[in-house]
Amino acid sequence: MTVSTEDIRVAARRIAGTIEPTPMVLSASLGELAGVPVHLKLESRQTTGSFKLRGASNAILQLSASERRRGVVAASTGNHGRALAHAAQRESVRAVICMSKLVPTNKVAEIERLGAEIRIVGNSQDDAQQEVERLVVEQGLVMLPPFDHPHIVAGQGTLGLEMMQAVPDAATVLVQLSGGGLAAGIATAVKGINPATRVIGISMARGAAMKASLDAGGPVFVEELPTLADSLGGGVGLDNRLTFAMCRDLLDDVILLSETEIADGVRHLYRHEREVVEGAGAVGVAAILAGKVPSAGPIVALVSGRNIDMDLHRRIVSGERTEFETMDGEQGRAA
Ligand SMILES: *Cc1c(COP(=O)(O)O)cnc(C)c1O
Repeated sequence: MTVSTEDIRVAARRIAGTIEPTPMVLSASLGELAGVPVHLKLESRQTTGSFKLRGASNAILQLSASERRRGVVAASTGNHGRALAHAAQRESVRAVICMSKLVPTNKVAEIERLGAEIRIVGNSQDDAQQEVERLVVEQGLVMLPPFDHPHIVAGQGTLGLEMMQAVPDAATVLVQLSGGGLAAGIATAVKGINPATRVIGISMARGAAMKASLDAGGPVFVEELPTLADSLGGGVGLDNRLTFAMCRDLLDDVILLSETEIADGVRHLYRHEREVVEGAGAVGVAAILAGKVPSAGPIVALVSGRNIDMDLHRRIVSGERTEFETMDGEQGRAA
């Protein structure tokens, strides 16, 4: 199983009316630092606040008539849950999002507002996932996972098409790397258009599951740690079917970042680009600021999302050292 450039082109036509084409802007401040042109793809401006809407829309629009009647289910409290709720509501499809009791009430309310039914079960993400599996068996709901699914990967890949259309001579593309749906899709699209363009994945050093899996030659378990880039947390799945192999075959390199470097990225995007961006969204910019990106340009850096706690954001941009940055020395220090 894999996803082709053609699958991504078809996905782009399928979701065209359901997503925003997001801006590509040239960053003078980062260009000066990098010594080559740096373009920012502002997917943080996407409806629901992240690129996850692309994959979710592409998957919802391919449900069969009977699947549409039954509805979809997932166990995400973050950007995937928001995107699925919105995409399903748009198509009048039932969406059930399962969460544990530990999820803060404001996150619950946000996903409810987007039209999803919420089920609060147990005390961990595992308990929530068990409820998902129960609903699949008992009610025939369709489980849509956040990354390891061909329709999700193809949807995220549409970003790669937009990048190459806006910057056809891109030499380096910087993309966030967690479960790898985003990186796999973008790398397929970008290299389908120009095989010489380098695609570099970027993760936080604290809990970089795909990086550890690539090093080990197969999916491995990595402990999830608190990080400013919380949307990059979680494993790749020990039974990964699709994204591990695609990332292994397509990514040219992986860069890891400390919490201090990620905070610098969030602060720079706010102060110099006037953009509110979450930790995960800022890692491409952070890698440039940290001097970790080889200088082949033009560079396109993806800004993948904006859903950050605004009090945490205020503390970061005002220069306060947060609890995350103090954890830098403890474990998984950046290479
Ligand atoms: C989900 C997410 C990512 C990572 O995507 P994967 O497909 O899991 O690698 C990056 N940034 C943001 C904002 C996200 O929500």
